Amino acid sequence: MAARPLERETTVARPVSYEGRGLHTGRPSRVTIRPAPCGTGIVFVRTDLPRPVSIPARVEFAAMSRRATGLAHDGVAVSTVEHLLAAVLWGGVDNALIEVDGEEIPLGDGSSRVFVDIVEEAGIVELERERGLLSVDRPVRVERGEARAIALPHEGLRVSFTFVGARRGMRAEHVEFEVTPETFRTEIAPARTVGFEWELATLREVGLALGATPDEAVIVGENGYVGPARFPDEAARHKALDLLGDIALLGRVSGHFIGIGSGHALNHELARAVVRETAQARPGATGTEDGLHDRCRGNSKGASAQVPVSSR
Ligand SMILES: [Zn+2]
Repeated sequence: MAARPLERETTVARPVSYEGRGLHTGRPSRVTIRPAPCGTGIVFVRTDLPRPVSIPARVEFAAMSRRATGLAHDGVAVSTVEHLLAAVLWGGVDNALIEVDGEEIPLGDGSSRVFVDIVEEAGIVELERERGLLSVDRPVRVERGEARAIALPHEGLRVSFTFVGARRGMRAEHVEFEVTPETFRTEIAPARTVGFEWELATLREVGLALGATPDEAVIVGENGYVGPARFPDEAARHKALDLLGDIALLGRVSGHFIGIGSGHALNHELARAVVRETAQARPGATGTEDGLHDRCRGNSKGASAQVPVSSR
């Protein structure tokens, strides 16, 4: 097997912003993706508080928020991070500060498309450090009821999602992709949030999903999709996107991640199980943390933002 060419860590070339309403609160918020030095990872920064609070996008800070993935640290939360996080990491960016001036990330068009677009607009630059990789080195499996989430060893990143058709109106769907920035952008990122017609009224009653309109979701009715879909299997593609957003909390990882009727909570469980059970091989991570940070700080061309990250 040929050795993989060395890859370097990356960040965005310049800051870029997007403003929109949140899915659940319906309130406007603005995100700004800023360059960050190597070794930072992806870190959210709540800028609407008296003092900015950093929340690293790592699995130990994962929390369910309504029906989405949230992160919580030092009593401060940011919610619905998964579509943005997937676009940043699987779009090719290892390090970034993502400032947000509220608790909820904007919904965009219900997919990752707007976030892929702003990352593209920002541009990506390489940093002076070899990219580390968490490799799934044995099968890892978690389950809840009928749902399964599985990680298998795989060279590169692969994602599969299967709807088994157990939900009303939902036909069986299966998708599988080798994930590269290109396939992520064209095949996965445009797939919109899945909404079940009979649930929407109930969700609104309890104050969830205030921001969603039929343009921002693929709505499943009694007899399948209601209204135009972007793909014939858009729902499964979106669930694959959600799975990718959740495993982005592992940082750059290789493996085949498989969801069978799984959702965010089970995805988080899988990510935690992967951390527990797989051996970590991060080429850059042989020195002390301090040594690493010194090396990164001096060499991060193009990474001008230096907001301190409190919790690394
Ligand atoms: Zn989603």
